[in-house]
Amino acid sequence: MEKTTAYVNAKIYTMENDGAACEAIAVRGGRFVYCGSSEEAAAMADDVIGLQGKTVIPGLIDTHIHLFPYACSLERLLLDKVTSVKELQDKLREYAKNVPAGEWIYGFGFDNERFTDDKSLPTKEVLDEACPDHKVVIGRWCMHFFSANSAALAAAGIDRSFKPEVEGTVLYGADGEPNGVLSDASGLKVVSLMPDAYATLEAKADVLEKAIRELNKKGFTGAHPVQARHVNLPEYMAAYQKLKDEGRLNARLYYATDDFEELKAHKGEGDELLRYGYYKLFLDGGLGGRSAAMIAPYCDDPGNTGVLNYTQEGLTEALRKAYSLGIQTGTHVIGDKACEMLTNAVETLLREDPQPDPRIRMIHLEVATEDVLQRIRELPVVIDAEPLYMDTDAAWIEDRIGAARMPYANAWGRMLRDGVVVTSGSDAPGLDEDPWLGIYCCVTRCDKNGWPEGGSCPENRMSVYEAVCTYTKYAAYDSFEEDIKGTISPGKLADFLVLDRDIFTVEPEAIKDTNVLKTVLGGKTVYEA
Ligand SMILES: [Zn+2]
Repeated sequence: MEKTTAYVNAKIYTMENDGAACEAIAVRGGRFVYCGSSEEAAAMADDVIGLQGKTVIPGLIDTHIHLFPYACSLERLLLDKVTSVKELQDKLREYAKNVPAGEWIYGFGFDNERFTDDKSLPTKEVLDEACPDHKVVIGRWCMHFFSANSAALAAAGIDRSFKPEVEGTVLYGADGEPNGVLSDASGLKVVSLMPDAYATLEAKADVLEKAIRELNKKGFTGAHPVQARHVNLPEYMAAYQKLKDEGRLNARLYYATDDFEELKAHKGEGDELLRYGYYKLFLDGGLGGRSAAMIAPYCDDPGNTGVLNYTQEGLTEALRKAYSLGIQTGTHVIGDKACEMLTNAVETLLREDPQPDPRIRMIHLEVATEDVLQRIRELPVVIDAEPLYMDTDAAWIEDRIGAARMPYANAWGRMLRDGVVVTSGSDAPGLDEDPWLGIYCCVTRCDKNGWPEGGSCPENRMSVYEAVCTYTKYAAYDSFEEDIKGTISPGKLADFLVLDRDIFTVEPEAIKDTNVLKTVLGGKTVYEA
């Protein structure tokens, strides 16, 4: 007989309904077996864990993350906050302690203009002083200038007789030797010599395991990794499978890919820990670079309506090939033209071949129109929103699209109240993965500094309950798993969090500073503060 563990004296928001709560849960065999009173839970348990009135909610699910690139980004030596040569040297020295002598060190993102002691581009002497035993190259944030130390220059064969491919891309000191400052082609030549740190399956699995530990720390028990090869965002199913086989996979993953053949070959494979998911398509670009496809031109770039990767027929055909096989699709749409085209395509597919429950994913749906918002109410779609757009786009979105289109931008509150399912994803590593900042953004519609006051188009705010739904039960619905996870209820997988505050009663500004005290996946504690 398996052991039963009770968690008692807590404030447990089950998320079954708004306000539904209990004070205790019991877990056996990785599932909830009881939700109710502390006395009854304790009576049926072998172990009893008291939670001192702390808040408990279901584990969170990130429905859009580039997990492998995110994992790699966590390991990179970031130099973007460095403000002096001395600090640069200290950072390199510190980092080098964990790198075997003779190996490469790559640092990224420095800005010598911000250095308070010496604003010139760092020379090889600066780097040699900090790391004489490693091959070091650092890239300026602009990616046009690099600095290399003596060992890195030697490895690349850059000495006084070296003939650069492009003249002027190697700088020399008074002694006629290269001084370590390189630009463009010569800098990239050195960078290209570094071996791929994640070449083996072993290394990929290791770095992913570390990244998932970070996600557990933030409160995630699940994620939908998205492979997008044409924008250089790879994922490796074999690495996830390896973690799973070795009992090291501490999050439930629903794997999306733009590799149709891979998905077709493995359609429906997987279990509650690791599953093949949806087919990913890209219809347009983004608002930041004014490449999202718009019906009318950008307000700050008259004549430009963005770019489309498909014609209407091409898009419908690309979706049809998956839809006809019962494979879920998810299409990146940001501009209102792209949102309209995807809506057209979905209507066409349903007309031709009505399927009972396809849950077609519209990824981002950043700028809709009144017409699109009306039509999607009747369609079997799920919107994969990105809450942090409230933070990242706040300063310029109105310049791009103008006041008249603002009520249709990220219209999450309205969509939810129209009965459309909305989920939340981070799009990390491009954006921050922090779900508490995400919930705060959904609830306040402000950036992280509280701007604009009162929120942008406050009619589209979510309640805290709605925001948490987008990360829990609606996210579970997104992968057809609402029967096994997303709420706290007997029979469901025991994925839950203990928090340091009651996010349902604190001031909205305080939600973003929430700390997770404990993350439990299938009854097993995978993170504890
Ligand atoms: Zn993405």
